[in-house]
Amino acid sequence: MPVQLTRRRLVEGVLAGAFVSRRRPVGAQSATLAFSYPSGLPGRVLGDGFLVRHGYATENTWYLPGYWHAGEDWYTAAGDAAGTGVYAAGAGEVVFAGSNYPGRVVIVRHAPELFSMYGHLDYALSVAEGDVVERGQLLGTILARTDGRAPSHLHFEMRTFFTTPEVNGEAPRYGFACGFGCPPGPGYWPIDAPEHPSAMGWRNPTHVINRRAWPGGAMAGVDVVVSTTAQGDAPLWDDPGDDAGAAPIADVPLRAGDRYPLLAVEVGAEEGDGTSAEAYRVWYRIVLPEGAEGWVQAAVPSMNDAGSDGRASSVRFDFVPAVAAPTP
Ligand SMILES: [Zn+2]
Repeated sequence: MPVQLTRRRLVEGVLAGAFVSRRRPVGAQSATLAFSYPSGLPGRVLGDGFLVRHGYATENTWYLPGYWHAGEDWYTAAGDAAGTGVYAAGAGEVVFAGSNYPGRVVIVRHAPELFSMYGHLDYALSVAEGDVVERGQLLGTILARTDGRAPSHLHFEMRTFFTTPEVNGEAPRYGFACGFGCPPGPGYWPIDAPEHPSAMGWRNPTHVINRRAWPGGAMAGVDVVVSTTAQGDAPLWDDPGDDAGAAPIADVPLRAGDRYPLLAVEVGAEEGDGTSAEAYRVWYRIVLPEGAEGWVQAAVPSMNDAGSDGRASSVRFDFVPAVAAPTP
């Protein structure tokens, strides 16, 4: 007769395994990743302790209603993000370092049609145009905002263009402060425009990172970590939980720092056409300490901020890859 894993046994296994696994060094397996999250707190893993208050192609209601956000706004969940390190999401060349957003903007080219953009950095940057950077290399720190428009945060975009005529080239479709020939671009796209931001070349940053982090699907030896912003339990599903027919098979207690081996990822399209945080789709297949396998939701829609239609604009990370934030 096959071994039957009861929920009680699963939970006990998680508890026992977590105690052992927490003692492992945080960054032991970071070398295998090709892409990672763009910010991190000292001594923590990249992405832990952050809340994406305004996700990709969501409405930023209190800052700029009527517009889709062209990127992600990364805030620290506790305290102020000013001074927090900002790191290259992947290897590439710094093709822009300047502007006043407020704060500096850095743009890194990873491939002919893949750029990452980091806005609201402190004026003292750690890189200059022409520098070749590695994934995780320090670019600068988050600017301490004093203009009263928003708390300190990182504006982070992934996109296919440096400049493109309709967005920030010779024929901008809409008027923004950063207009003609301005590489950073507007950061927003009108809701009443006929095109979704993805049709203009912007991409869902979290989807890009999670789709490209493990080239060829080589996840062996990579762990994921429960973040400090996770709370309660997460269902463990037999299939990614939004698949038809998926069923929960256990509960995983969300204790910050617990580590689980990563077996597979299921990530939504880079050029997704959703218009709320509900369109985020990042699932990790993990293995529990006593061997049971299943899927957990890594990027979870949050009602911390919502669009004018009432749908979630924020995203929190319950599980993040075990990649240590370098010391700024
Ligand atoms: Zn932003």
